[in-house]
Amino acid sequence: MISKVIGESRKIVIKIGSNTLAQEDGTMNRSFMDSFARQCAALAREGKQIVLVSSGAQVAGVSTLDRWARKKDIHYRQALCAIGQVELMQNWREAFAAAGLHIGQLLLTREDFNDDQRTLNMRNTIFTLVDEGVVPIINENDSVSYEEIRIGDNDNLSALTAILWSADLLILFSDIDGVYDKNPKEYPDARHVAEVGDLSVLRSGIVIGATNGFGTGGIATKLEAAEKVTAYGIPMLLANGSVPECLTALADGRSRGTLFLARE
Ligand code: GLU
Repeated sequence: MISKVIGESRKIVIKIGSNTLAQEDGTMNRSFMDSFARQCAALAREGKQIVLVSSGAQVAGVSTLDRWARKKDIHYRQALCAIGQVELMQNWREAFAAAGLHIGQLLLTREDFNDDQRTLNMRNTIFTLVDEGVVPIINENDSVSYEEIRIGDNDNLSALTAILWSADLLILFSDIDGVYDKNPKEYPDARHVAEVGDLSVLRSGIVIGATNGFGTGGIATKLEAAEKVTAYGIPMLLANGSVPECLTALADGRSRGTLFLARE
């Protein structure tokens, strides 16, 4: 089913979480990025169009600077993102260049999505980049976002992006291969959910825990993203980014995930 959905989708938004992009010690997982860029290039050769939503600015900032890791002050976190975003994009630029693709960067906030003129401009920029074979890479503009204009997590940002671009599919790569009825890291008998038709049924049947590691999202924001896109007729896939060749493996039906079906 998953490989069929990917096979039938031309416009795909892919979100990669901080836990997938960073290694245990917080440094960028460059071999993942190189491999991921090659897999995107292979899909592009098949005629697919890809927009990336990449987290990792904050964790890249910490590993670049090697300090401020424990600072919780918003100014330090925003400064870390300013530093790390450059590092993050430099790595993506090199990875995609080696795969023969150009990239473009968009840094967005919730305010941009609430403003008609900005929304139109973002849409036009994304369409133009993609039409010209350039891969847009999006992150929240963490350095300018304060609470009121923050989206806060890239799960929701990728959902808004998928709707804005009228994508055929949203894929979220995280450190887990989908939704379980309870936390599989704590409960070995946790049951994997392969397909979700009704989100309210799912919500009542699972335990939603807190986030861990470098990411900000956790399962709650992934379900919010699913809620958003499926209402617009866009299916969503939640899959594990640490599986080797994670994108190709999903497309070939070699790895599993949770598929949230689009609501008609
Ligand atoms: N925008 C944040 C960053 O790049 C990540 C947000 C998220 O993890 O969802 O560090």
